[in-house]
Amino acid sequence: MDTSRKPSWLRAKLPSGPGYAAVRQLVDNTHLHTVCQSAQCPNLGECWSRGTATVMILGNICTRSCNFCAIATGRPTELDLGEPARVAEAVSKMNLRHCVVTSVARDELTDGGASVWAATIRAIRHRNPHTAIEVLVPDFKGRTEDVDTVLAAKPDIFNHNLETVERLQKPVRVQARYDRSRSVLQHAKSRGFTTKTGIMLGLGEDQHEIEQTLRDIASDKTDIVTIGQYLQPTPKHLPISRWATPEEFVHWKEFGLSIGIGVIESGALVRSSYHADEQSKKYTGIEHLNTQNALTGA
Ligand code: SF4
Repeated sequence: MDTSRKPSWLRAKLPSGPGYAAVRQLVDNTHLHTVCQSAQCPNLGECWSRGTATVMILGNICTRSCNFCAIATGRPTELDLGEPARVAEAVSKMNLRHCVVTSVARDELTDGGASVWAATIRAIRHRNPHTAIEVLVPDFKGRTEDVDTVLAAKPDIFNHNLETVERLQKPVRVQARYDRSRSVLQHAKSRGFTTKTGIMLGLGEDQHEIEQTLRDIASDKTDIVTIGQYLQPTPKHLPISRWATPEEFVHWKEFGLSIGIGVIESGALVRSSYHADEQSKKYTGIEHLNTQNALTGA
């Protein structure tokens, strides 16, 4: 398959409008990192124009080197102790009813950054008591005590991505493991949390493997799933094996729903936090967000 040209369904909106400008200014002023920028997300224009951004905590240098990810790998800097309060302030200024926070992996820390995760969740909740908090966390090397540290702060949605099918974990995620990621999700579910995961298509998986992954997700009782197209961030990253068609994304959504997964967001441009507020309405009971008015005064 010729993957050198993006198909028409992958052309994302360009950044524009007062909502975009307001988010850009807020991110700059609060010195926060966003995964939207660090991961070169194709939806940055659309999400920022809606007044939403996904904050990335624990720095912008990751100790891991996943072969699909644009985030820089290396030795992270010291912990920024003022970060939880600044994240809480940014959520407040964006007037978010649903916020998504993610982080790099910090494998050099004894708790993998779990205590900073908990402090961030608590700071957001203290400042924004009516905001649903979704966390997209690393695997903490499968240490349940660190997962429990995060869960003790009571996020509304606990998200951890499988990213791809079992066979491709090693080439795609290098230091991660399929069974370990599943056990993290299973653990959060066993504690009664709403759980979420995501996979990408176009990394070399076959149809049977996608089906099996969705069956595994359903058997783990994971509530929300995102399925999107892998995009190669630089020529050094894994090549795109194929463009999944819009019809295929619809097929996987229908299949996932038919085997009992509660909510599936499936489409070429879908990413973990894309329309996260919409996906999680069923679980958080929060109807919608209207951040643009808050940011633009419109
Ligand atoms: S652990 Fe996360 S942030 Fe780090 S390289 Fe992998 S996908 Fe990127």
